[in-house]
Order: sequence, then C-alpha cells, then structure tokens
Amino acid sequence: MNIIDAPIAAETEYRHRVSVSDASPPLDKLNRPLRDLRLSVIDQCNFRCTYCMPRDTFGPDYPFLPSAQRLSFEQMVKLAKAFALLGVEKIRITGGEPLLRRGLEALIEQLAKLTTASGKPMELALTTNGSLLAAKARSLRDAGLNRVTVSLDAVDDAVFRRMSDVDMPVSRILDGIETARAVGLAPIKVNAVVERGVNDSQILPLVRQFKGSGVAVRFIEYMDVGGAGGWSNTKVITARETRQIVEAEFPLIPIVSPEQMGTAVTYRHADGKGDVGFIASVSQPFCGTCTRARVSADGQLYTCLFATQGTDLRPWLADNASVEQLATAVRGRWIQRDDRYSELRSAPRRPGSAKVYPTVRMSLVGG
Ligand code: SAM
Ligand code: SF4
Ligand code: SF4
Repeated sequence: MNIIDAPIAAETEYRHRVSVSDASPPLDKLNRPLRDLRLSVIDQCNFRCTYCMPRDTFGPDYPFLPSAQRLSFEQMVKLAKAFALLGVEKIRITGGEPLLRRGLEALIEQLAKLTTASGKPMELALTTNGSLLAAKARSLRDAGLNRVTVSLDAVDDAVFRRMSDVDMPVSRILDGIETARAVGLAPIKVNAVVERGVNDSQILPLVRQFKGSGVAVRFIEYMDVGGAGGWSNTKVITARETRQIVEAEFPLIPIVSPEQMGTAVTYRHADGKGDVGFIASVSQPFCGTCTRARVSADGQLYTCLFATQGTDLRPWLADNASVEQLATAVRGRWIQRDDRYSELRSAPRRPGSAKVYPTVRMSLVGG
C-alpha cells in the first residue's frame, strides 16, 4: 500500500469492522445468543385447556385480537429475515392454535425459502393441538414445514376432554399424528403437560401408545405461566417423578444429545424402540441456555415466557423500515436481556404456594 492509499484503507477497514460487529450475533447480558424464534400467528384457539385458556376466563366475550391487529404474513417474513440476520436457526410457528390461521401454508412457503446467517436452510417447526392436522399435514409438508410437535395430554377420551375442555375424541388427534407421519413430517414429537390428579394416570398410556412408532413423547411440568390461573405447585409432578413412573414399566437409558442442552432431557427405551423426554421447566429451570425470543401475533417481542411486557416491533414492521433496521431494534433489546425468571422464582416457592406470576398469557405469546 502506498502512503496516499493509507487513510482510505484505514477508513474502509473501520467501516468493515463496524458493519461486521453490527452483523455479528448478539449476546444478551448473560452471554446467551439468539437462536430460536417462536412466532405466534394467532391468539385464538379451538381448545380451552384448563392450564392455558380456562373457559371461565377465555369465554365468548374474551377480547381476542381483531384480525386487523394481527401481523400480516409479509410482516412475519420480514421479522424472520431480521431474526435470521441475528443468528436465529429455528423458527417455531405457534399460537393460540396456529392451524386456525387461514392460509398458514402461504407463510410457511415463504419462511421455508429463508437461510440462516451461516447459509443453512432455516429449520421450520410447528406446535399444534393436532385437531386440524389430519386435514393439513400434507399441504404443510408441501409448503416446506420440517417438523411438528403435537400437544396431547391423554389417550383416554374422558381425561382428554376434561383437560382440553373440548368435545372431540382423542382419535382425531391420533389421526392427525398418523397423517403427519405418513406424509413424512419428521421428527414428530408429542408434548404432554402433566398435572397431578388430572392426567398423571396417562403417563404410562402415553408412553405405551407411542413406543416404537417413531414419535417421541415429552412430558412437561405444569408451569405457572399466564393463563394458568388454577396453578399451585402441589399440582406439579416433577420431571423426576414422571420419569420414575415411566421407568417402573419401561427401562430407560439417558442419551446425550444437543437437545439436552436446551429444554428436554432425553432417554431412550432400553430396547431401542424410541425416546422419551422430560422437561423440568419448574423443578430444574434451564434459563442459562435459553436462547429463545417470542413474538406475539400483534408484533410484541418477548424475551421470556414470564415477561410482563413486550417491546412493540410494529414501527419497524411498517413498509418504510428495512429488515436491517428491524434487526437493529431487536438486537438493541436482546443485548439488554437478563431474564431468568424460572431460576429466580424457584427459590422462594413453598409447597402449597398458589402464586401465579402475572405474565403475558401463553396463548398470545406462544408456548
Ligand atoms: N395450541 C398449540 C398447542 O397446544 O400445541 C400451540 C400453543 S400452546 C400455548 C404451546 C404449548 O404450551 C403446548 O404444548 C401447551 O401444552 C403448553 N402449555 C400451555 N400452558 C402451559 C402450562 N401452564 N404449563 C406447561 N405447558 C403449558
Ligand atoms: Fe389452545 Fe394450545 Fe393453549 Fe391448549 S395449550 S388452550 S391447545 S393454545
Ligand atoms: Fe427462558 Fe424465561 Fe423460561 Fe428462563 S424463564 S427458560 S429465561 S423463557
């Protein structure tokens, strides 16, 4: 380099450094990167699970978001692009019940075209109650959906109806799971919330139902999140207790997988016929590895399931703001993040405590 080029080279290098540092994946205050986006596409649901949307609160007059206030698919794609720039590798579509959002396949088709910052295809997952899955599994797969998680808390009709507060047989959900499997959506997981005295009788039947089918069952501790008005920690069956119940009939071997770094601790049936997972969100919180952001159906960014307030992203979702400007706004919020509510709250909790944290409702922000 000659002396005349030097200042220009230095300036170029400076600009380069600035843009690289802006584009590098942000870390929050506890050094956690942003890897997962949970995108809620609708806050309504056709179920009234007693632990999520109890009917006495979510009745006919409940003020759900009017459709005009929901983000459009274009805005969601813009969001996804911005989150991809920041390091997100997996997008989970959720709700409410996401399959109630009309034309969801069109959104999935757009999201399936995205790549991550490192050039890999974006992983696309869906969490659903399964009631509309038999009808939609094929079109979802054709649109580019990779994996699906179905929430199912019981295989006994009476328990299922009581817990989901819906007039529907379990067979409808099982048909949905079977169709999803048949069209090649994989992996398929079944998530079951376990509530003492309500569906603990269903732990073994759920394992029996899916063992050897290629579908992994994961048991989730009943959490005191928004919506769970009747929560008390006496109703929580810990992941450890659930595992002991399973192990009384099915020998399990722990498996070490990247999954274990996140939420579920996974075990394999000793005969190799499938996996069972345990999610200890209450008894052993995993805030230290929590890399999730949630965006509600009306464009609020939540950095924790237990957050009481979101950050309104709509100004950056308007046509006159670019994807990069939106990414900068999200980055600004993420680097301020210090959430670890489950860890902090696990300390003072006593048996019989019925305190439910006044969080945003689960059905708005997505589970
Ligand atoms: N409607 C879809 C479904 O049920 O899969 C997606 C949204 S739902 C809010 C997402 C997940 O949150 C479900 O697996 C549900 O079981 C879980 N969930 C809701 N309330 C919960 C609670 N109080 N404790 C634990 N999990 C809960
Ligand atoms: Fe609906 Fe899912 Fe909540 Fe049940 S858990 S009420 S299916 S949003
Ligand atoms: Fe993540 Fe908040 Fe749950 Fe902790 S409490 S694991 S920070 S969502």
